[in-house]
Amino acid sequence: MKIIRIMVYQLDMPLSEPYYLSGGRLKFEKLDSTFVRIDTDAGISGWGEGCPWGHTYLPAHGPGIRAGIETLAPFLIGEDPRSLNHINRVMDVQLPGHPYVKSPIDMACWDILGQASGMPLWQLMGGHEAAAVLVNSSISTGSPEEMIARIEKAAAKGYTVHSAKVGGTDIGLDIARIDAISAALPEGHKVTFDVNRAWQPAVAIEVLNSTSARDWVEQPCETLDQCAHVATRVSNPIMLDECMHTFSDHLEAWKRGACEGVKVKPNRVGGLTKALQIRDFGVSVGWQMHIEDLGGSALADTAAIHLAASTPEANRLASWLCHYHLSVDPVPGQGARNDQGVAVPPSLSGLGVAPDPDQFGPAVATYETRA
Ligand code: MG
Repeated sequence: MKIIRIMVYQLDMPLSEPYYLSGGRLKFEKLDSTFVRIDTDAGISGWGEGCPWGHTYLPAHGPGIRAGIETLAPFLIGEDPRSLNHINRVMDVQLPGHPYVKSPIDMACWDILGQASGMPLWQLMGGHEAAAVLVNSSISTGSPEEMIARIEKAAAKGYTVHSAKVGGTDIGLDIARIDAISAALPEGHKVTFDVNRAWQPAVAIEVLNSTSARDWVEQPCETLDQCAHVATRVSNPIMLDECMHTFSDHLEAWKRGACEGVKVKPNRVGGLTKALQIRDFGVSVGWQMHIEDLGGSALADTAAIHLAASTPEANRLASWLCHYHLSVDPVPGQGARNDQGVAVPPSLSGLGVAPDPDQFGPAVATYETRA
């Protein structure tokens, strides 16, 4: 089987309401998403989506995906999309780094492999059933009272796991937020306090040693070095997210005892193939993981839910679904959706999501021949 065509579509996806990360440092109003369709000489087509969470969240941005695919496409035409490690080696040789560019291509190749083998991705990734994955709410930062009200609203919709954004310039307010939310949590619910890199190490140590809450704390500081320093000086379990880009970052974090869990996000690490390697490493060292993508429609969300559903339950905490934050839905009725706080991946072969290209307007690029 050979790749004969790569078609690229772009869609601006407005958020239903502006979103503020911890401390209000980063504001987002719309996401720039790239959809990729890969056609093969076997008549099978696969879909992928790459959607960084805005331009300011990570060293990744929407237009960069399209530019990177222009560079990669001539080297992918003619290759067998089912040979996923080979496809990834070709991409890494032709464009070192830029993992977010490669994720939608890798995703579309997984979709083709699944369709060709007649298996859903959750099964190809080692799962034994279309497991129901817990979906976590995302609680925008605010006063303790506002945040508790948002958690109560989410709980009424069936969410039992919450990601609460903390990390402002006021240390006392952060301690108050964490203490109040942890104490007000409904019976059986879990919360992760996501700092999104906002604290300096001394602040992280002061806040976490001043609160009695022992819930998960995510990405307290900017770098892996800083987070590792904090991890040895506090008693909360630490989850790492934005500082983890490569397999080596994960190995280093484990060697240094920097965390008890990680966020596995295909777009951040270069696609499902690399996310699967990281997931398997995480299982082998006993990490607990949130598996979700950086952003995107129900297409990207569904790819991540396949990976989450194939992960042993003991190592899987929850997954966030980006598409609930959007005011558009380019794949209506398809893919993994939140049903009372859980999402189930499709059991159709492949990804199980096939957009109607008319949703996107004309392709912004089509690559068909070897350069
Ligand atoms: Mg995070």
